[in-house]
Amino acid sequence: MKQMFLFLAILVVSSTAGAGGKMPEPKVVKINERVYALLGPLGQPSAHNQGYMVNSTVIIGDRGVILVDSGGTDEVGNQIARVIARITPKPVTHVINTHHHGDHTLGNVVFKGAEILSSEQCRALVEKTGMDWVRIMESMIGHKLPHTRPVPASLTFAEDSSAERSLQGVRVLLWVPRGSHTPGDMMVYLPDDKILIGGDILVNTIIPNMRDGNVRNWIAALAKVQDFDAVTIVPGHGPLMTKPDVARLQRIMADFYAGVEAGYKKGLSDSEVRATLDLDAWKGLKEYEVTMGSNINRAYLEVEAANF
Ligand SMILES: [Zn+2]
Repeated sequence: MKQMFLFLAILVVSSTAGAGGKMPEPKVVKINERVYALLGPLGQPSAHNQGYMVNSTVIIGDRGVILVDSGGTDEVGNQIARVIARITPKPVTHVINTHHHGDHTLGNVVFKGAEILSSEQCRALVEKTGMDWVRIMESMIGHKLPHTRPVPASLTFAEDSSAERSLQGVRVLLWVPRGSHTPGDMMVYLPDDKILIGGDILVNTIIPNMRDGNVRNWIAALAKVQDFDAVTIVPGHGPLMTKPDVARLQRIMADFYAGVEAGYKKGLSDSEVRATLDLDAWKGLKEYEVTMGSNINRAYLEVEAANF
C-alpha cells in the first residue's frame, strides 16, 4: 500500500513538473486597481524554467479579463491562469498576442472560449510556424508537450494601423506598427490607465532579438512610443519600463544600425564589421553572448538590402 502511494506520488510529480525543474511563479506587480503585470523569469526556455520566460499583462474588465500574451506552453498558460484566479474570479474572455513567437502565443490553447486578438501577420505566422514553435519548446525544455497546440487569433488588425476598442468596458488602443521585432507586432495602450504593453519591441535588461526583425522599423516604433502619454510600460521580457528607458533603447539601436551601415559602406564583411562596433552599451544585457552575433548578421543583411 505504502509503495503504491509512493508510485502514485511520483507519477503525479512527473506529470505536472515534467523532466526538469518546477514551474516558476511570476512576479506579480499591481500597476493599478485593474491592471497587473505578471513578470516571468528572464532567459531562454529551459528545463529549469519549464518554458516560462515571458511577461503577461492582466486587465480586469467589467465581466471578464483581458490577458496580453499567454505563455510558451499549455503548462505555462495554466500557471498564468492559476495566478489570474488568485487575483480575480472573473474569466479570461480576451487574449491579445503581441506577436507570433511561441513564448507569447502557445498558452492560448488554455483559454478556451476567449476571443484571441492579434495582427493579421501574427495570425498567419501562428498558422505557418506554430507547430515548429511547439517542437522548439519541447527540445529546449526537454519534455513533450502533448497538450500544446497553436491557436491563431479570431480577430485581427492590419499592419500600420491603430484601432480603439472597448473590451469589457476598458478602453484599449491596438497599435500594429510596421513589422519591428517580427513582421506582425502589436502594442496595446490603455489610455485611461496610461499603461503601454510593448511585446518584444520593448525588452528590458535582456538583449532584443532581431532574428525575425526589421531594425529600421523597430527604431521608428521606439521613437513613436514617446508620443504616448504612458507612465508605466510593460516590456515583453524584463522589469517594467518608463519612457526614458525606451528612449535609451532607441538610442543604442540607432547607434548599432548606424555602426553596421558605416562598416558596410567601407566594404567590410559582417564579421569584419563586428570588430568596428562599440558594443559597450549592449554587453551588460542578458543573453548578449547568445544573441549579439545573430543581431549583427541580421542588421548587416538589412543594410545590404537597403543599399543595393
Ligand atoms: Zn518573447
